[in-house]
Amino acid sequence: MSAFTPGRHVLQTPGPTNLPDRVLRAMDRNAINHRGPEFGRLGLSVIGKLRPVFGTEGLIGIYPSSGTGAWEAAFANTLQPGDRILISRTGQFAHLWEEMARRFGLDAVALETDWRRGADPAVIGQVLDDDREHRIKAVCVVHSETSTSCLSDVAAVRDAMDRAGHPALLMVDAISSLGCIDYRHDAWRVDVTVAGSQKGLMTPPGLAFTAVSAKALAVSRAGGARRSYWDWEPLVRANETGFFPYTPAINLLWALEAALDQLAEEGLDAVYARHQRYAEATRRAAAAWGLDLQCQDPAAYAPGVTAIRVPEGHSADRLRAVILERFDMSLGNGLGRVEDRVFRIGHMGDLGVLQLTGALTGVEMGLAAAGIPHQPGGVLAAMRHLTESNA
Ligand SMILES: *Cc1c(COP(=O)(O)O)cnc(C)c1O
Repeated sequence: MSAFTPGRHVLQTPGPTNLPDRVLRAMDRNAINHRGPEFGRLGLSVIGKLRPVFGTEGLIGIYPSSGTGAWEAAFANTLQPGDRILISRTGQFAHLWEEMARRFGLDAVALETDWRRGADPAVIGQVLDDDREHRIKAVCVVHSETSTSCLSDVAAVRDAMDRAGHPALLMVDAISSLGCIDYRHDAWRVDVTVAGSQKGLMTPPGLAFTAVSAKALAVSRAGGARRSYWDWEPLVRANETGFFPYTPAINLLWALEAALDQLAEEGLDAVYARHQRYAEATRRAAAAWGLDLQCQDPAAYAPGVTAIRVPEGHSADRLRAVILERFDMSLGNGLGRVEDRVFRIGHMGDLGVLQLTGALTGVEMGLAAAGIPHQPGGVLAAMRHLTESNA
C-alpha cells in the first residue's frame, strides 16, 4: 500500500460524526476571556439554541466532558448509595450506565432484553405497579441504543410510569438521538436528559449536555450524593448569566453554536425527516444484501445508526478492517455482546445524499472483498429509495 491515501477519509461511525466546515471554521480563532462580556453572550446563545433541540424551557447544563460525564451528574445529583433504579438492558450503553450505577452503590434492577428491540414500556409499568412502596427512585432508558440501533419509546415509558402512578424520576440517555429525531424533554416530562456533542449535534467530542426538570432539580437540592464538579447548581446560574464556574470549553462552544445554527437553517423537521430517509435507505441496502438488521422491531429502528449482522461464521471486525484498508472508511464496531457480530453504519449528523450512497458503496465493495456471502444490489436499492423519497 502507498504511504499516502488520496481523498477524504470516510467517517461513518455513529459518533464522532462529520464536522460541517462552518463548525471547523467557528473554532479556528483565539480563545477569549471566559469572564468577559463576549463569553456571557456565547453561553446564553448556545443554551437558547439548544432549547428547541431538547424541547425544553427548563435547565440546560453544559459540561466540558464526554456524554458519560452527564450520566454521572444525573446519578450524583439525585440519588444516594442504596437507592434503587430500574434500567432496561437494551444494549452496551445501557449496560455501561448500569455498571456506573453499581459503582455508585445504587441498587440497579435491570430488565433483560435480547438487544434487538427497545425498552418495553409494559414491563416497566408492571415493575412499577408492583413497587407499592415506591422504592424505585429512577427509571433509566437509553433513547437510541447506539450499539443495537434500536430506539426506545420515551413517551410510552412516561405513560407507563403515569399509569402506575409512580413518582420515580425518568432519566433518558439521548446521546445519539438528539438532533436526529424529535425529542421533547418537557412534553414527555423527562426529568433528566443526557446528551453529548459528537453525534447528531455535529460538534467535536468534548461537551456533555443535560436537561433537568424542576422536579429533578428539587430532588437534587434536597439530597443526592456528594458531588462538586458535577453539581447542577452552578448550571442554574449559568442559565441565567451565560458564565460557568470553571473554564468552559470556549472553542467547542463556538463550534456548537455554528452547528446549532446549521440545524436551525435546515429546519429541525427537515433534519429529522432526512435522518429517517437515510435510515430507511440504509435498511433497504441491508435487505437487498440479504443481511439481517440487529434491530428486529420495525417500530424501533433508530434514525442515526443501523447495526447490520454478518452471517454466522463470518467476522464483522474483519469486514471493517478490509473496508478501512481498501476503501478508507471507518464504520462502527460491534460492542459487548455483539462484538464481531455486527457492523454499524452511522448516518447521523452532517451528511449529504451522495456521502451516504458512497458509504453504502464502500460497504458493498467491502462485503465482496471480505468474502461475506451477500446479494449485490444494496446500493441500488438505497439509491432508488433516496430518489423516490426526494420527489
Ligand atoms: C456515544 C454514547 C455514549 C457515550 O458517550 P461518550 O460521549 O462517549 O461518553 C453513551 N450513550 C449512548 C447512547 C451513546 O451513543
